[in-house]
Amino acid sequence: MVTSASALTSSRLRATFASGRTRPVSWRKAQLRALRDLLTDHQQEFAAALHTDLGKNGTEAHVTETGFLVNEIDHTLRHLDRWLRPRRVPVPLTLAPARARTIREPLGVVLIISPWNYPLQLALAPLVGALAAGNCAVVKPSELAPATSAALARLLPLALDPEAVAVVEGGVAETTALLDEPFDHIFYTGNGTVGRIVMAAAARRLTPVTLELGGKSPAVVEPGTDLAAAARRIAWGKFMNAGQTCVAPDYVLAIGEAADGIERHLATAVREMYGTDPATSPDYGRIVDERHFDRLLGLLKDDSARLVTGGEHDRTTRYLAPTVLADVDPDAPVMREEIFGPILPVVRVPDLDAAIAFVTARDKPLALYAFTASRRSKLRLSTETSSGALAFGIPNAHLTVPGLPFGGVGESGLGRYHGPHSLDTFSHTKAVLDKPLFLDPLRIVYPPYTAWKDRLLRRIL
Ligand code: NAD
Repeated sequence: MVTSASALTSSRLRATFASGRTRPVSWRKAQLRALRDLLTDHQQEFAAALHTDLGKNGTEAHVTETGFLVNEIDHTLRHLDRWLRPRRVPVPLTLAPARARTIREPLGVVLIISPWNYPLQLALAPLVGALAAGNCAVVKPSELAPATSAALARLLPLALDPEAVAVVEGGVAETTALLDEPFDHIFYTGNGTVGRIVMAAAARRLTPVTLELGGKSPAVVEPGTDLAAAARRIAWGKFMNAGQTCVAPDYVLAIGEAADGIERHLATAVREMYGTDPATSPDYGRIVDERHFDRLLGLLKDDSARLVTGGEHDRTTRYLAPTVLADVDPDAPVMREEIFGPILPVVRVPDLDAAIAFVTARDKPLALYAFTASRRSKLRLSTETSSGALAFGIPNAHLTVPGLPFGGVGESGLGRYHGPHSLDTFSHTKAVLDKPLFLDPLRIVYPPYTAWKDRLLRRIL
C-alpha cells in the first residue's frame, strides 16, 4: 500500500510530539519569537504575495495581517507564563487533607485549515495559539490565495521547527486527505458548508473542532448619532479588502430618519477614501476570483434596489466598485446570503424593536454593530440579540483586542480564539487531585455501609 503524503506528514509530527520536544515553555517561546522575526524580516515578500492574491494595499496588509500577527505574538509572549501557571482549586472539607489544581497540557498534533481572504492572518493566528500551547501543527492555506500559500510553504520552514510544523498546500483533494488522518484538534476557518464537512470528518474520530465561520453581520444605525462619523467607520470596515472580510458589516439596518442621512454620508465616505474612481485607487482591493466576481454581480441584479453609489465593474481585473444600495427588500437575494464583497445594502426599519426583530429572526451573526447615542438602546441590543461579538461605534476592531475572545455562535461558528482564548482552545485543562495516604477518614465512605455511616454521610455530603 502507498502511504499518502498527508499520512507521512501527520505521523512525522506525531513522532515529534511523542518525543516531548514541544512541551517545554522555552521551545514554545523560541518558536513564537522565530515566527515574529520571520514576519518582520520577510514583510515585503508577504505583502507582495497578498497584493498578488487580493490587490491588497501594503498599509492594509500591515494593519490586518503582518502587524496584527506580530501584536498577537507579543501579547502571547508577554502573558504565556501566567496563562500556563497551574490554577489552585479549593477542596471541600470532606476531602481534606488534599490539594486540587488544574494544569494545561498540549493536545498533540492539530490541523489548521485557513481561507483566502486574510490568508496570512487566518493561517498564522491559530498557529500562534497552537505553538503557545505546545502542539505540533499542520497548516493548510487556501488554494484561492496561491501566492500567499506558496510564501507560507517556502518561508515557514526557514523559521519554525520543521519536525513540528508542516505546511500542506493544495485544494479540496489535499484537505480531504488530511481530514482522513488522526488529529487532536481541527481548527477550520471558512464557510459553513465546508464547516459541516470538516465537522462530519472530525466526528469519525471524536476530534474536537473549532469552526470560525461567517454570516451576515448587521450595522444598526439610530437617529441622533453622528451619521457622518458612523458612515466613515462603516465604509472603512465594509470596503477594506474589497468587502471580503468575515466581520465586515454585511448590511446597514437604518432606523427611521437615519436612513437618508447614512446613505448620503456613505457615498461621501467612499469618495473620501477611494476617490471618484476607486478603480484607480491604490488602496482598494480586488475580488479574489471570477467565481466570486460573478456571484457578486448576480447579487447586484436587483431592480428593486436604488443605487446610491458604485456598481461599476470590470471582470478582467475583477474590480467591483464600493457599492451602496438603498431601499433594499429584506427578501432580495443580496439579503439572503452572506455578501462577502463590496456591496452594502441599506435596509430601513421603523424603530429599534423592528431592528431587533430583524436580527433575531435570522441566523446569529458573527458580529453585530450599532451606532447609537442611547445607553438604553445599547443595553437592549446587548441583552436581546445574540452574536459572536457586539461592538458599538466601530466595526471589525474587536479583533484587535487580544484579550477578547474571537468566534461565532450558532451558524457563525463554534469555539473561540485569540490571546488566552487560543490557549484554551489548543490545550486540555486537566484536573489534578492530590490526597496523601496518611490519615484515612475516607473509611466512612467504604463499604460495608452501616446505619451510622449512612446517617453521617447524609449529614455531611
Ligand atoms: P476557502 O474557499 O479558501 O475555504 C477554506 C478552506 O477550506 C480552504 O483551505 C480550502 O482548501 C478548504 N476547503 C474548501 N472546500 C473544501 C472541501 N470540500 N472539503 C474540505 N476542505 C475544503 O474559503 P471560504 O470558505 O470561501 O472563505 C470565506 C468564508 O469564510 C466566508 O463565509 C467568511 O465569512 C468565512 N470567514 C470566517 C472567518 C472567521 O474568522 N470567522 C474569517 C474569514 C473568513
